[in-house]
Amino acid sequence: MRYNFQPMEKSPVIVVVGHIDHGKSTLLDYIRKTNTVENEAGGITQQISAYEINHQQKKITFIDTPGHDAFSAMREQGARAADLAILVVSAEEGVKPQTLEAKATIEKNQLPYIVAINKIDQPTANLEATKKSLAENGIYLEGLGGEVPFTAISAKTGQGISELLDLILLAAEMAALKKEKTNETDAADWLAEGFILEAQTSPQRGVTAAAIVRRGVLRRGDYLGAENSDCFRIKKLEDWHGRETEILTASSPAVIFGWKTAPAPGARWYSAAAKDQLMKKIKSSDVSGPAADKLPSAATANENEKIMPLIIKANTLGSLRAVEKEIGKISVPNLKIQILDSGIGALTENDFKLARATGALVIGFQIKIEKAAEDLALKNQTTYGLFEIIYKLNEWLETELERRRPRIEVEIIIGSAKIIKLFSQTKNKQVVGGLVLDGKISNRRAVRVRRRGADLGAGEILELQQQQTAVKEVEKGKQFGALVEMRHTLAPGDILEILEIERK
Ligand code: GDP
Repeated sequence: MRYNFQPMEKSPVIVVVGHIDHGKSTLLDYIRKTNTVENEAGGITQQISAYEINHQQKKITFIDTPGHDAFSAMREQGARAADLAILVVSAEEGVKPQTLEAKATIEKNQLPYIVAINKIDQPTANLEATKKSLAENGIYLEGLGGEVPFTAISAKTGQGISELLDLILLAAEMAALKKEKTNETDAADWLAEGFILEAQTSPQRGVTAAAIVRRGVLRRGDYLGAENSDCFRIKKLEDWHGRETEILTASSPAVIFGWKTAPAPGARWYSAAAKDQLMKKIKSSDVSGPAADKLPSAATANENEKIMPLIIKANTLGSLRAVEKEIGKISVPNLKIQILDSGIGALTENDFKLARATGALVIGFQIKIEKAAEDLALKNQTTYGLFEIIYKLNEWLETELERRRPRIEVEIIIGSAKIIKLFSQTKNKQVVGGLVLDGKISNRRAVRVRRRGADLGAGEILELQQQQTAVKEVEKGKQFGALVEMRHTLAPGDILEILEIERK
């Protein structure tokens, strides 16, 4: 079956970020409840952490990662899948640490964003003080010396939310125009691309993943491959209501069926009608590019290399950048550092949840660790370090990385000997006489046997003798007797190479 699609305007994908309790979940709930038909009789309900609405006859997709703590890492992954962020700031509290973390995430993902100043229905709300605290923290609003669009809302009463949706459409249009100018056009229809929000495994449905389609058209039956995951054929697709569907277009939330292994939240995926087409795309795609730098990706490490994820928190954005820069200078053989997450503020439980899930090392610079985070680190035995001085941080990290890097075993030949005579043989054990040609030969050492240059196999010297006395070593030019264990029967003229295994 072929589908023929007209080029269409891509609807925006929105992620809502901000400090805890500033009203992200309330806002997402309000928008969903007032703009979708899910509560009608015969009701369809939201099945996954994303939904779509219609506003001014245009579609808007919201990534709706639950408000719970544990999901803040996922919200961060959402930033990779979104076109636009809404930074929610409470008019009662102004900018708080996670507001700045969110800002850092937005900037890292180069997302355009809108500030929604929330809770303006509260008597203690102070719009002017909130704007001031935004400006003090480098968030310059439109009309106040900056370019960030903003609107005042109440997620509780709904005041200002329609204007917020207008603003989203406007900002999305502007962003799309900018994109056109940079000639970044959407991919061909045969290929779809997107991000994973979360994966689930159940006996009835197997491994499924909620995802956002970023470009192209996703079809049942297409081949799909994601970062750090196998390639497979899409068995079934569902929309965000849980309704089965054959196709999903750009910006749509989707549930994808047929995975062999669960993909990681935030992982990028591609799909294509044919497997070779998909493989070609995966090979040519820059999975280590800016949009993918959050996850350890198998595609960026070679076979002997291991990826070491790091989580870094610092007191200011400036010191965070300085730490990242210093860390960038560290180079350890066979290990690739990947900064999985970074932010401003104390080390929190969330940091250690993410560390647990990924095996990351956690680093704090000129900050403290929260008590609950410390307890969790202890419980999970997560390695972390707190530093005031950057060179101490580097020293510690180098030691930790050195301890963790994979060792490659390299065989070094420390000597060679020629077999002169085979005295006896029982099963794999052979008594031979020989002459050391080079270096030295030693007892209890691995050997390789060569016959006329060809490799006959490996074995071990079990005993070594010189003039009927047991010795540990025999040097160049000396004759010896040896008990050798190996499968092949040795013959005069064979060369024994004495190996030392060095772990590099
Ligand atoms: P989140 O942690 O950012 O997702 O915050 P929530 O959406 O859970 O909101 C935290 C608290 O603030 C809840 O008790 C909400 O009912 C309340 N809240 C959120 N938005 C508003 C608002 O606009 N006005 C008022 N009065 N309360 C709000």
